[in-house]
Amino acid sequence: MSPRIAIIGAGFGGLCMAIQLERAGIRSYTIFEKGAGVGGTWRDNTYPGAGCDIPSHLYSFSFERYSSWTRRYPGQPEILGYLEGCADSYGLRPRIRLNTEVVSAAFDEASGRWRVRTASANGDGDGDANGDGEKNEDEVFDVVVSAMGQLNRPYLPDIPGMSSFAGAAFHSARWDHSQDLTGRRVAVIGNGSSAAQFVPKVAEVAAHLDVFQRTANWVVPKPDAVFGPRMRAALHRMPLLRRAYREWLYRYGENTLYPALAGGWSADLVRRRALEHLHAQVPDPELRARLTPGYPLGCKRVVIDSGFYPALTRPDVDVVTDPITRIVPEGVRTVAGLREADVIVYATGFRTSEFLAPVRITGRGGRGLAEEWREGAEAYLGIAVPRFPNLFLLYGPNTNLGHNSIVFMIECQVRYIMGCLPHLAARGPMEVRPEAMATWRRSLERAMGRMVWQAGCASWYKNEAGRVTNNWPGTASLYRRVTGAPRPDAFHFAR
Ligand code: FAD
Repeated sequence: MSPRIAIIGAGFGGLCMAIQLERAGIRSYTIFEKGAGVGGTWRDNTYPGAGCDIPSHLYSFSFERYSSWTRRYPGQPEILGYLEGCADSYGLRPRIRLNTEVVSAAFDEASGRWRVRTASANGDGDGDANGDGEKNEDEVFDVVVSAMGQLNRPYLPDIPGMSSFAGAAFHSARWDHSQDLTGRRVAVIGNGSSAAQFVPKVAEVAAHLDVFQRTANWVVPKPDAVFGPRMRAALHRMPLLRRAYREWLYRYGENTLYPALAGGWSADLVRRRALEHLHAQVPDPELRARLTPGYPLGCKRVVIDSGFYPALTRPDVDVVTDPITRIVPEGVRTVAGLREADVIVYATGFRTSEFLAPVRITGRGGRGLAEEWREGAEAYLGIAVPRFPNLFLLYGPNTNLGHNSIVFMIECQVRYIMGCLPHLAARGPMEVRPEAMATWRRSLERAMGRMVWQAGCASWYKNEAGRVTNNWPGTASLYRRVTGAPRPDAFHFAR
């Protein structure tokens, strides 16, 4: 009999898991999704200019090669359309429960099963298990797969006076499309990858734009290109061409971008490329100085964009580096004075180190996952956690990349979990051994030593204590190798 599987989340991760289950003929799964639709990141981030910065021929499923991308880096609607198409063509919809938030999952030792509790969510993807949703009956599953993503819960800074602002204020991942920004004074707090994508669009219509920058980011050009009908037809008709293009993108990430993050041969090359880009696009030396980062390239997420700097040089756009002291009804007050605004957009990123929060996950012995992870989230291969039998994570701790496609990592994890299913079906709930976890932790720590993320910078890759909990320190190919097949000796089985 097939195990009953609960999948939490219907983004790239949850959909990939469900597709592989379908392909294996296993239909005893349910996807719980707190939002009103599938797509995860690509459902939530609808800000103007939203798009990927890893080319979509690579940033897509290897088994569902889509040849019709209209450009190298398509926008959010196209990526969301691709994911919706996947949900349809693999027949996943009947097993997806939208507007349903998982609030807790508890492992019952007597039965060896998980009790999953859900609540009806309001569909904006922000249910956050605060108990306002209508509670549903508990459901019982053999396996729980978390596919909740790392960049799912918006982070709002704690600036005094935020609630006093008289105008509209929203986070970039919850863009308020009812606000027409034409002719208005807009304050953007933050200057990371999302801001870089929407600032040029907003600058075109706003009366004035202030971009509040705490730390300058490294910016490299985005070599975007439109795929015209002929190119698309060629990619469509010639699978070998499509495969070669994807392979080239993958190898470029592995052989050129990865070494730039690992103190390798290309670190100086990419740094010089970024500085040339800055010099070419920002003629004013004073502004250029403010936009020059004071830490090594790659320590924080590198912004990949060709339109951000030109937008920052517009006469109606200011880069404000004076520290913010408070938000007031009229706008943003800094140490240098008031910057008036009609609208504030928080481009302040996500709560990245709180993996699986706020879902209450309880493992063997009544142990809470949040308690287990007090010092920082960690998981064997980023997938399994001691004391939490038959719980598997997608895009879990230390599986984020700065140089290649997250979809690649998710596929490795899904293949691994698929490989676990026969084992747990035959030998009962499987739980990773603490010794395997300890060996994994040591190898991660060793590899982390050479990565640029350790350099002195604050970033979303680290938790509050400064430990890198998000990123994978190896190449994507190494991750594929280590997740090739489950090693039964790394696990304890109930039978
Ligand atoms: P998500 O897409 O975040 O999906 C998680 C899903 O889980 C969501 O639908 C959420 O509503 C649901 N969920 C969460 N909690 C619960 C709950 N308790 N109950 C039920 N449902 C729940 N990566 C790249 O590799 N290349 C890129 O170019 C790239 N661009 C990006 C651009 C932006 C603006 C952002 C924000 C991220 C980008 N990323 C990129 C990272 C991106 O998040 C991942 O590539 C990928 O989309 C992660 O998929 P996921 O399914 O793991 O998570």
